[in-house]
Amino acid sequence: MTSVAVSPTYTVAVRTLCEFTAKTGDLDLRFTPSPTAQEGIAGHAVVAARRSADDSGYESEIALSGTYGPLHVRGRADGYDPARNQLEEIKTFRGDLERMPANHRALHWAQLKVYGHLLCAARGLERVRLALVYFDIGSQKETVLTEDHDADGLRALFEGQCASFVAWAEQELAHRAARDAQLRALAFPHAAFRPGQRELAEAMYKASARSCALLAQAPTGIGKSVGSLFPLLKAAAAHGLDKIFFLAAKTSGRRMALDAVATIQASAPLLPLRALELAARNTACEHPDKACHGESCPLAQGFYDRLPAARAAALEQPMLDRAAVREVALAHNVCPYYLQSELVKWADVVVGDYNYYFDVTAMLYALTVMNEWRVSVLADEAHNMVSRARKMYSAELEHAGLRVLRKTAPEALKKALDRVHRQWSALEKEQDGEYAAYAELPDKLVGALQTAATEIGDYMAENPAWFDADVLDFYFAVLHFTRLAESFGEHSIFDVTLSGSGTRANSVLCLRNIVPAPFLKARFDAARSVALFSATLSPWNYYSDTLGMPADTAWVDVASPFQAAQLSVRIAGHISTRYQHRDRSLAPIAALMAEQYERTPGNYLAFFSSFDYLEKAADLFEERHPHVPVWRQPRRMDETERDAFLARFTEDGRGIGFAVLGGAFGEGIDLPGARLIGAFIATLGLPQINPVNEKIRERMQAIFGAGYDYTYLYPGLQKVVQAAGRVIRTTTDEGTVHLIDDRFARPDIRALLPAWWHVPHDR
Ligand code: SF4
Repeated sequence: MTSVAVSPTYTVAVRTLCEFTAKTGDLDLRFTPSPTAQEGIAGHAVVAARRSADDSGYESEIALSGTYGPLHVRGRADGYDPARNQLEEIKTFRGDLERMPANHRALHWAQLKVYGHLLCAARGLERVRLALVYFDIGSQKETVLTEDHDADGLRALFEGQCASFVAWAEQELAHRAARDAQLRALAFPHAAFRPGQRELAEAMYKASARSCALLAQAPTGIGKSVGSLFPLLKAAAAHGLDKIFFLAAKTSGRRMALDAVATIQASAPLLPLRALELAARNTACEHPDKACHGESCPLAQGFYDRLPAARAAALEQPMLDRAAVREVALAHNVCPYYLQSELVKWADVVVGDYNYYFDVTAMLYALTVMNEWRVSVLADEAHNMVSRARKMYSAELEHAGLRVLRKTAPEALKKALDRVHRQWSALEKEQDGEYAAYAELPDKLVGALQTAATEIGDYMAENPAWFDADVLDFYFAVLHFTRLAESFGEHSIFDVTLSGSGTRANSVLCLRNIVPAPFLKARFDAARSVALFSATLSPWNYYSDTLGMPADTAWVDVASPFQAAQLSVRIAGHISTRYQHRDRSLAPIAALMAEQYERTPGNYLAFFSSFDYLEKAADLFEERHPHVPVWRQPRRMDETERDAFLARFTEDGRGIGFAVLGGAFGEGIDLPGARLIGAFIATLGLPQINPVNEKIRERMQAIFGAGYDYTYLYPGLQKVVQAAGRVIRTTTDEGTVHLIDDRFARPDIRALLPAWWHVPHDR
């Protein structure tokens, strides 16, 4: 060993160490990200297979570690050939190797030299040959750069690297010790827990202690954000958590999480907690018209030279929300988006969208695996997880887009695009009818897409100044599609939808994920604990099955703080809102609404299954009851219009807002007290019966034996309960919910309504 380890130790991955100490110059994404992760893995496998073929005892993926003062450095070297005493670091790339920026090459050597030292120390070697193996994804050729080093020289280099990191590591160790000491002493930030909040907090803490997943159904109004963050902060100290990731489906959810962090920070002024908000690239980018490299964007130029000062300044701030990160970034002339990515490594609590952890190329997940962090993941409003995760693992390609590209793309790419077009057209010709789902993927078309992606990637690498947004969009869409095609299985459907004819013919290829469970498994496995929570997570087996919750997942159903007497629930069993009965339903719905309004004037929301239904119901209601103020959700709405719609719901206001179930007003809005005193829900929220949903139903039946329930009933009722949940927001609210449809009287439907409601038997 290089030096005697002292306690406490700071563990750092070789890559993180080298990125910290040896990365200088411009941010430049033109070269390195070209090969996809899959291609990178495949490239490594090709090189390893070539080495193993000659029976030389070649070793792959060698775990190595070493210490220097308080530092524990660890990582996996790509390969070692004992016969030649050659240690290899494999890097995949595309295009012209000469164009690789010098700072990328320097970083690769720095990593390899650290591995060289760790290998010499572990095996008592006096010298070793270091080989940087650049593997060209396109040509499958290797360029091997070698250097011979003796163990003493490598040790000196390693110690130099560590010495320039050790001050930072000591600062981080001190931060961690102070953080954990303060967290152990941390008291709940409010005078008392709200009803239900303690139960939620205890379940969260226990899940971390048991290192398991948790599904938590916890009603609105109990303070879920503080109720989940507080116990996990306590757990961070007790269970050695490196980080907590608080993930939300919407910006409003992120805001609530940041507010909860701020509340805790305000209650514990000595707590040195670093909280970071992750913003999407399109909101964080300062130069959307530029590309992310030093020749195009001034905030990419010299990024790594200015990063140390920006990083140090940022970490002075306990609350790094989007505005704070931007302010620091601009003060140091670095890109805010890439600064926030860097800050993840040093933050204690990271607040962001689901996709940062669960997506195909999720940054938080990748960093967790690479750095072997112990993390707890919180997913708020988790009833959205099924639909969001499905989207992450689905891919679409439109033929119309390719047709345009065939005319505008550079000549060098046309042959590859033509080949895709021919295979695509052949598939369309064979199809009977507008929609078809296929058991197998069209191999020839997928092969042509893979080739086209490779050629576009090669072209971009060879022509770094060239930029075409349409080709780039197509390229990324094809990469996503072909990546998902590699893991096509029972969890997904491949379908083709045709439209138009002749020169206007178009088709959409869709790899449609139905059950995200197989994709999420590695994400659940990588975290110490994962807690999914929402006001509506029933029935739990629907979420558990489709998301693939681990077998030891705990389940808690926190009792509502609300009393049945606060909410009058009525079932209008004399009305059917089925598609064929809609016209007939309009008059009795209008009468029912008017009757309720006359009895208790105030603010109401009325939910319908579609805009068409909404318009017809609102027209008739306005015609028959012109004295009642009515406002309608338009088909398209920006944030200002959304705010204006909600602004109509004032404490002393009166009227009925007509909205669509599952839309902007069906969840995530908070209208306490007299701002909303009732809701009319004229639908069961069942997804439309169409060929796609019917395919989903068949697949759900085949996998879980619950086709109708998992496709239609549960997702529909979840929306109904969310919408009804807008009425009672606090323990002093009172209100009325009318469930308008005869099916609400059925026992199986009533069983899906919240336990605290008192639901009478039809009126
Ligand atoms: S500011 Fe925008 S263009 Fe510039 S590096 Fe950042 S994300 Fe890329």
